[in-house]
Amino acid sequence: CLCPVPNQLMHPSDGQGYSPSVPGSYSHQTPAKVPPHQSSGQYNYSGSQNVSQLNNYQGPGQTLNRPPVAPFSGSPVQQTGPVPQVLLPALQNSAAVSSAGSFPPGASPPVLSNWQYSQTPGSQPVGSQTSHLAHVTGTGSAQPPSSLSGNTNPPGNYQYAASPGGPPLQNSYMKPGSAPPPVTQPLTPLHPPARPPLGPPPVGGPPLTRPSTLIAGPPNTQSLLNSAANREGCCSSAINCKYLSSLPLATPHPSPAPPNLKMNRSVGYSYPTLPPGYQNTSPPGAPGMQASALQYPDGSKHFHQPALGTNHLTAAMGGLSLQQEGLRPVNLLQERNILPMTLLKAPVPNLHEDIQKLNCNPELFRCTLTNIPQTQALLNKAKLPLGLLLHPFKDLSQLPVVTSSTIVRCRSCRTYINPFVSFLDQRRWKCNLCYRVNDVPEEFMYNPVTRVYGEPHKRPEVQNATIEFMAPSEYMLRPPQPPVYLFVFDVSHNAIETGYLNTVCQTLLDNLDLLPGNTRTKIGFITFDSTIHFYSLQEGLSQPQMLIVSDIEDVFIPMPENLLVNLNENKELIQDLLRTLPQMFTKSLETQSALGPALQAAFKLMSPTGGRISVFQTQLPSVGMGALKSREEPNQRATAKDIHLTPSTDFYKKLALDCSGQQVAVDLFLLSGQYSDLASLGCISRYSAGSVYYYQSYHHKHNPVQVEKLQKELKRYLTRKIGFEAVMRIRCTKGLSIHTFHGNFFVRSTDLLSLPNVNPDAGYAVQMSVEESLTDMQVVSFQSALLYTSSKGERRIRVHTMCLPVVTTLSDVYLGADVQAITGLLANMAVDRSVSATLSDARDALVNAVIDSLSAYRSSVLSIQQPGLMAPYSLRLFPLYVLALLKQKAFQTGTNARLDERIFTMCQVKNQPLVYLMLMTHPSLYRVDNLTDEGALNINDRTIPQPPILQLSVEKLSRDGAYLMDAGSVMFLWIGKNCGQSFISQVLGVPNYGSVPQNMTHLPELETAESIRTIAFISWLREQRPFFPILYIVKDDSPLKSSFLQNMIEDRTESALSYYEFLLHIQQQVNK
Ligand SMILES: [Zn+2]
Repeated sequence: CLCPVPNQLMHPSDGQGYSPSVPGSYSHQTPAKVPPHQSSGQYNYSGSQNVSQLNNYQGPGQTLNRPPVAPFSGSPVQQTGPVPQVLLPALQNSAAVSSAGSFPPGASPPVLSNWQYSQTPGSQPVGSQTSHLAHVTGTGSAQPPSSLSGNTNPPGNYQYAASPGGPPLQNSYMKPGSAPPPVTQPLTPLHPPARPPLGPPPVGGPPLTRPSTLIAGPPNTQSLLNSAANREGCCSSAINCKYLSSLPLATPHPSPAPPNLKMNRSVGYSYPTLPPGYQNTSPPGAPGMQASALQYPDGSKHFHQPALGTNHLTAAMGGLSLQQEGLRPVNLLQERNILPMTLLKAPVPNLHEDIQKLNCNPELFRCTLTNIPQTQALLNKAKLPLGLLLHPFKDLSQLPVVTSSTIVRCRSCRTYINPFVSFLDQRRWKCNLCYRVNDVPEEFMYNPVTRVYGEPHKRPEVQNATIEFMAPSEYMLRPPQPPVYLFVFDVSHNAIETGYLNTVCQTLLDNLDLLPGNTRTKIGFITFDSTIHFYSLQEGLSQPQMLIVSDIEDVFIPMPENLLVNLNENKELIQDLLRTLPQMFTKSLETQSALGPALQAAFKLMSPTGGRISVFQTQLPSVGMGALKSREEPNQRATAKDIHLTPSTDFYKKLALDCSGQQVAVDLFLLSGQYSDLASLGCISRYSAGSVYYYQSYHHKHNPVQVEKLQKELKRYLTRKIGFEAVMRIRCTKGLSIHTFHGNFFVRSTDLLSLPNVNPDAGYAVQMSVEESLTDMQVVSFQSALLYTSSKGERRIRVHTMCLPVVTTLSDVYLGADVQAITGLLANMAVDRSVSATLSDARDALVNAVIDSLSAYRSSVLSIQQPGLMAPYSLRLFPLYVLALLKQKAFQTGTNARLDERIFTMCQVKNQPLVYLMLMTHPSLYRVDNLTDEGALNINDRTIPQPPILQLSVEKLSRDGAYLMDAGSVMFLWIGKNCGQSFISQVLGVPNYGSVPQNMTHLPELETAESIRTIAFISWLREQRPFFPILYIVKDDSPLKSSFLQNMIEDRTESALSYYEFLLHIQQQVNK
């Protein structure tokens, strides 16, 4: 556990744990560990403590189904003005969601000291949570009763995603047919004299009066989608549906490490096409089936159950001996060269190869322990967190897609049939999650791939751990929504000064035709400063028409029907607007920012359909709802205390939950040189399943390298695949229980994540516990199902299933530990801890995770006590990675890290797939002045050198060389003072070291082999990620040298231990 005990708050650390050799000044870094608390017998990590952090919104346990109370009643910050009437029905109804009254902003939530890895069985009244499921026919709730009752978190567990505190959703949002309150305010003048309208005044257009039907307009999409979502969990599969088509499987037997699951960023929103033969295949007996007809009569003889039953299990266990090397104790103090020279791969689960070759790609689905402990007691002993890391919507170059009116699922727990079910015979299959025996539907007897009848076990669904289904109509209760994109631009003086609007409008113009969508795609624009400006793009107008609403206290939408328009039909007007916008405000002196009201307007505009809001903001919002005050103390040294990691208002969270209820996600682009309170603003994206982008000190002239970054990332953002009105559910084998979720979403019911938008660059994590002993189980499975509407308007379900062995000994648990997944999950937990308690608590907990696990290994696994610091081979990088986390911007102390920068890094930890999280935590260092083609990759006729990865220590740097440090979203190319002349001239294109420019950020493309190799390598690294790392070329006297050195994880810095010192500290605690 990260902190099995009363932490520093109760036992103030005095650094007594340090060995004399470690300078005392470091003592605050890694406080001595306190002895385990006697009373906390169960080793639990639960939201139980997490709860408190995000829960300044809701008192633990108070928010379940709390009836709506007066909105905003508890937030004095927002109550200074007249009673807000914004978003009347919607916001008021949603008051229950966040129960604003329960916690005044800024009040300290109760700090619970125990960090525990599993939840404490408690009394969360989940039943009422699922009340909205009740009307769905079928097997009732989406999870078997045992799971539901198992999910008995202490109230308020899901701190990051506000779910359990969530509302009775059915009632929380728009009520159908509820009439809006009569509007009595006088009309607001729409055209303040100061600003001329963009187009001709709206003479003859609709009168700019407040439409009385505005608010009542949206249909009750929430309840529709709830029901549709429930289908994901609850519908029962019909038996007599017809198989329509299937997507290609490369072969009936995919290879073990699926080569077909490579990232393909160009795929975007498209899907592989059906190869001839698989489309519209007919059932047996139909014309065209002669080839296989011969096999039809004796199909049963072809039935070969792959080794999925007990056969393979024996084999799985037998395989353990092969992995004993993995358990070899490593003395970390002696073996210094433990960093592999290539990127660390995920451990391969110890399953029979027939099973493992079908298993889910670890890039999509990963578990912290690939050997699942049989009992919670065993898990507790291991002192490691159990959880999953997911990248469920990752771009895939190949994805089997099944079109069938019958989606075969377990009648009891609704699991999708998958490679790890067992067939009792041809007609019956046993669920691998709940063990119910199900019938094989007639349709499933025919295999469209082999065109053979009678081999259900060879169907694509049973041969692919990753598969996508075209959802039949019962998975939707309203027609799939069209793609709707609304852009909201800050056009205050400050914003215009940065020059961002040029870049964004131009990039949007360039990519307008690449926005994922179809003929139904809609688009709209809002700009704001102290007022809100709408743009009518009505057909027939000669140019766009600007409508200004200056009453930001009670925003209304003028002409709602002309503000979101069909992209194809109005493209010229849209292009016209994008060309004009950047110039329109260049003379503006308006410095105020009414972000909150602008977002409220955007929400109103999007509510009827759902869709995506992209908001660009450059400063602290200053007027209207959601206005904020600066909380950053300049040059504050982060003492791990008193830094504002929690939101200062619940306005953005509440609005996000309203957005979520209407299937609207908000993506935030913060381009700011000044403190903008990302801790508060970020809530708008976090709870609506949006993304956050941050461009610190963006300025088109002063910081030109940011312009390219924005262009590249915006292009990716605009053109990447998008799923709308999505929900995701993660199921696991009976006995295991999922209890805390990490990522950007809203937990709608106990385990149903609401994702108004889903994008291929988002990662998620969950924590689990062993609720009931997994006795007699040799394997367990995990399945995620993501139901979404594609940009083409198809309802689809993407399913990933992973199978892992169960083990009974501590040494086997350690054997299967996935140190990267563990680090990733701990990082997520530490963000929560920083917010709920303090940064230093989170840091302590991270350190304690290392101490606890290595202590347990030493005392319970090692038979011979040896001197030194012993770690199982699988965990040999654990102390290094944790030290790297402590030095990461999110968790570091003693630096001048800007507050927004720290918060942004925390957002990244929460929302990035594991691969990027690891790179930003422990960058890769390469020597690049001597690149060769030896061992190089060859991709599309390009030769990509593959230099070895070096330890992050200046000891590894030679002044004769040049080194590339890849830290994920930033790269440094460090040039040694005596770097070879050939590199300087042939790669940097300058005559000598002295003439390398100070602020160089690009490599010239030269016709030399050295240049081509270097650029190929850097480009290849960049291409593999959805963001664009800036390349800084660093010389010895460069101001950026300190940033480069900060990433030298193994070295001591001004305020942090070296790796060796850290090991000594761990050793001392372990040997206590
Ligand atoms: Zn089942």
